[in-house]
Amino acid sequence: MDRNVNDPFAAERQRLIDEVADDFRRTLKWTGRSQPSAQVLNAMLRVPRHAFVPPDQQVSAYVNRPLAIGHGQTISQPYIVALMTDLLDLRGGETVLEIGTGSGYQAAVLAEIAGLVHTVEFVKELSQTAQAALARVGYRNINFRVADGRAGWPEAAPYPAIMVTAAAETVPDSLVAQLAPGGRMILPVGKTNGPQNLIRVRRDETGRIVRDTILSVAFVPLVGGD
Ligand code: SAH
Repeated sequence: MDRNVNDPFAAERQRLIDEVADDFRRTLKWTGRSQPSAQVLNAMLRVPRHAFVPPDQQVSAYVNRPLAIGHGQTISQPYIVALMTDLLDLRGGETVLEIGTGSGYQAAVLAEIAGLVHTVEFVKELSQTAQAALARVGYRNINFRVADGRAGWPEAAPYPAIMVTAAAETVPDSLVAQLAPGGRMILPVGKTNGPQNLIRVRRDETGRIVRDTILSVAFVPLVGGD
């Protein structure tokens, strides 16, 4: 797909990606990443964010901040999308699990790099809107499910990479269980209006779980009781 040819938003997207790169430099101390990988930069340059933003927010589609997508939910800030994708350390071609389809924008960024994306969304209407937007842009390597994503997508487990885009109060055990040896999961953890941190959970080759805290963040909650 050569979407950037004749794309009136290509210049705006380049400017946004430059801002995201500035944010990476500013947050190096916490994230350990001075710039997004070439793979992540290319993915962000290719995905037409305006296609995932509601009509009344089009003017802000390429602003580096989260936007409302209805049902009290948000499309994450582009810097956070880039950072979380980068922290997954994808090689390309693998199968990735995303919890919280939302607008479908993050799924698109993942689908640019991964071979296959499984994405789970709790709100049926959001999943349907995202499926339509992703189909319009031309993504074929994304599978959708409307369900409580805290249970993951066990049939296709284990995954080398899992991303959760809503904050849980604790790391869901069933998601950790679906992480392959050597796999990485990136997720926000914390109370709804309290402090939240972006956490990386890794399963090493021997099966041992290693957890580290990356950055303080603010996400909508992962719904459902414990
Ligand atoms: N990745 C999305 C961000 C969406 S915000 C994007 O790029 O736009 C988080 C999403 O998680 C919301 O759409 C919300 O409905 C969904 N969500 C919250 N709790 C969930 C759960 N238990 N299972 C699946 N999805 C959930």
